[in-house]
Amino acid sequence: MKLNRKNLSQQYHEFKSDVIVIGGGVIGLCSALFLARSGRRVTLIESGELGKGCSEMNAGLVATSHVVPLAAPGVIGQGLRWLLDASSPFYIKPRFSFELIAWLLQFRSACNQQKVKQSIVVLHELLQASYALFEQLSTDAITDFDFCQRGLLLLYLTEKSLHHGVEEAETVRATGLHAELLDAKGIANLEPFCQITAAGGVHYPQDGHLHPGEFVDAIKKALVKLPVTIQTQTQVSGFETQAGRIAKVLTSAGVFSAEEVVLAGGSWSPGLAKMLPLKLLVQPGKGYSVALEKSRKQPSVPSILTEARVAVTPLANELRIAGTMALSGLNRSISQRRVAAMLQAVPRYYPEIKIENMPAREAFVGLRPCTPDGLPIVGRSRSISNLVVATGHAMLGVTLAPVTGKLVTELINSQTPSLDVAPLSPDRF
Ligand SMILES: Cc1cc2nc3c(=O)[nH]c(=O)nc-3n(C[C@H](O)[C@H](O)[C@H](O)COP(=O)(O)OP(=O)(O)OC[C@H]3O[C@@H](n4cnc5c(N)ncnc54)[C@H](O)[C@@H]3O)c2cc1C
Repeated sequence: MKLNRKNLSQQYHEFKSDVIVIGGGVIGLCSALFLARSGRRVTLIESGELGKGCSEMNAGLVATSHVVPLAAPGVIGQGLRWLLDASSPFYIKPRFSFELIAWLLQFRSACNQQKVKQSIVVLHELLQASYALFEQLSTDAITDFDFCQRGLLLLYLTEKSLHHGVEEAETVRATGLHAELLDAKGIANLEPFCQITAAGGVHYPQDGHLHPGEFVDAIKKALVKLPVTIQTQTQVSGFETQAGRIAKVLTSAGVFSAEEVVLAGGSWSPGLAKMLPLKLLVQPGKGYSVALEKSRKQPSVPSILTEARVAVTPLANELRIAGTMALSGLNRSISQRRVAAMLQAVPRYYPEIKIENMPAREAFVGLRPCTPDGLPIVGRSRSISNLVVATGHAMLGVTLAPVTGKLVTELINSQTPSLDVAPLSPDRF
């Protein structure tokens, strides 16, 4: 028997269920939802409050068009240029960390045409399956939330970046999705009530968006009606393993045991996995969101301001601005410089939107769990037989949450997964 932390089982009552899900972000929540609906008794353990990690305050895009992973040819060169600019949208904080070095080496090896092509096929299948589940969930009596299907508009200020956008649209079209190339007139037709400055745009009509906070609330409400014990303010601090299985999950509120465990701890997953021990190559990718007050001049279609890497999402109560990707470790400090750079990008594309008297709330900071190859980790670990890992969704965590919940459930219930999970294996690095 291996004991990773002090044996709490002698001090506390032991809580039992069929499946323990660690982490109450969108991935843990959707895993708990699908598991409970398949008839499993679930305990969801969250160190803080549900959704408060990265899952409530993001841009809320359900972006089926995002088939090209971050690790793509050309990204390294661009990244190195951005690295030198403190207000750039992509930033790697120089520091000595074995995990970061290992991650960057894998990232570099993923930046080739062949791997990108393979990843596009995998991501496309996942994204399509997840989108279909969003359509079902949003009309399901138990999970009630608004799912808006107005597409996603990518805006390009310069001809050079528009050229890249057109190339990317071709890649997306090759998967069978629609992509409409728009000139200034086409953009104005799409957004007649809001002035836009751009050399051109690409509209992906099949994309959707939602209010991520409402989505989290809808899943929470559904879980209350299902056989799920929700254990918030409960920090997982270690594991007891026996014969290659997790026998006990040790937490600040006592000892929990179950036949199966799902690790959905977002950017904290590598630290938790280390205690098993299991190596997960996931780096936190820091991003921010701020809210602008609603105005009559605001867009109705979500957009990405491509040169600035900023997402603009019209929500019922705010215009949400989100962006930046900083690999700066597990910290949630806020760089006002980056937040300002993100906000200043908005009037360059939407000249009628004034940012002077805004934002309407404090900046939110979230840590996206990023894998080096841009694919999530969803699968059983080879070394711990009753563990399913579900993390590494980076910029697509909301988008891929339903399909992840479904795949996790199929794996736990020993069913053949509805999609091939081999490329998502936790042991692939
Ligand atoms: C600015 C920004 C914009 C984004 N926009 C989009 C978008 O438009 N569309 C999209 O699809 N995705 C978007 N994302 C990405 C998305 O938000 C994430 O991929 C997703 O929220 C990750 O969910 P998660 O459940 O894996 O992690 P998290 O939401 O971080 O949840 C992990 C949970 O585990 C808990 N935990 C950690 N350690 C422990 C422990 N020891 N014990 C118990 N619990 C623990 C944490 O408290 C946390 O609640 C965006 C992210 C950011 C930052």
